Amino acid sequence: SFVLVSGASGYIAQHTIRILLAKGYKVIGTVRTQEKADSVARLFNNDNLALELVPELADIDAFDHVFEKYNTQIKHVIHTASPVRYNMTDFENEMLLPAINGTKSVLESIKKFSADSVETVVYTSSISALANPAGIFEPETTLTEESWNPDTWEDAIKDVRSAYFGSKTFAERSTWQFIEENRDQVKFQLTTICPGYVLGPQAFDENAKGHLCYSGELVNGILTSKPGDTIDQHLAGAFIDVRDVARAHVLPLEDHRFANQRLVLMNKRFALQDVADYISGNFPELKGKISVGVPGSGADTVETTSKYDNSKTRELLGFDFVPFEKSVTDSVDQILAANKE
Ligand code: NDP
Repeated sequence: SFVLVSGASGYIAQHTIRILLAKGYKVIGTVRTQEKADSVARLFNNDNLALELVPELADIDAFDHVFEKYNTQIKHVIHTASPVRYNMTDFENEMLLPAINGTKSVLESIKKFSADSVETVVYTSSISALANPAGIFEPETTLTEESWNPDTWEDAIKDVRSAYFGSKTFAERSTWQFIEENRDQVKFQLTTICPGYVLGPQAFDENAKGHLCYSGELVNGILTSKPGDTIDQHLAGAFIDVRDVARAHVLPLEDHRFANQRLVLMNKRFALQDVADYISGNFPELKGKISVGVPGSGADTVETTSKYDNSKTRELLGFDFVPFEKSVTDSVDQILAANKE
């Protein structure tokens, strides 16, 4: 039997696939193009990884051919694929519909082709599904596993941040709604995972070169900055390391306590300035070469963000999260080494 992981070219997906393969699972990864399939296959170099093409999540039957091909061989599904970028203008077609249709398509395909075999579905949601862009900056609010972003479709199409937050919210809602409406027709248990800003190295060193994914650019943007460049003083919120996110995606396959749970993955609150300060303080070779931003301002910025209580998630997971300092160190080391080659 197989675990299907959508978005196998992605940052979180590759760490997740690495754990799955190490544990002996057979994995089907979906990617958009043959070129990406070849590249992912070469990186993992593992006969237990098969790759299939799903060119566009927005297509309502995007996943049908994959589930039709493997049907009852698919036992678990981890759906990570979703647009994660802020450089777009058509919020509905480039962000909201791919996120929502992609998610519905996965679930409908399970129902059509693999209803009897799929036992677990893990959906990668986000802390953006807990609150809207203003709601993560309400110091009096404590966000938990029960919190929901209240934005409507109209709110979600007004700017790109709201669109990303809306895309995660509506897509996650559609998963819980699907379970409610199809209880008799599918047997799988659902777990949704809501990570904060995900930091930490790429799964493969060679992916740490050049322009990185959204998360990767948080650290890389500081490393490629010039003295005097601005460091976004409004970027702050929840931090979690990518390796913790990947572990959390695999546990629900093995432990029934995760059935019908929503996990909030955050270790601590941070500001982008804290990343800059940590790099300046710990990588003396970069002194004078990169921006220092506004040193020491991170703590005040963090106080402007919402608080989090994810004690329920921490207890379920039962492992300690990777510390912020290790996460940043490992990313910086990897990026510096990759760009030296
Ligand atoms: P990546 O950008 O690395 O991965 C996103 C994946 O989705 C890629 O494989 C990408 O394919 C695929 N994808 C995006 N748009 C489409 C589309 N229209 N059609 C088909 N495939 C598409 O980001 P992450 O690994 O960080 O994100 C994975 C998941 O985690 C997402 O659901 C994201 O919302 C969620 N998340 C991420 C956080 C973070 O800080 N990184 C925080 C919270 C949640 P391609 O490589 O071809 O572009």
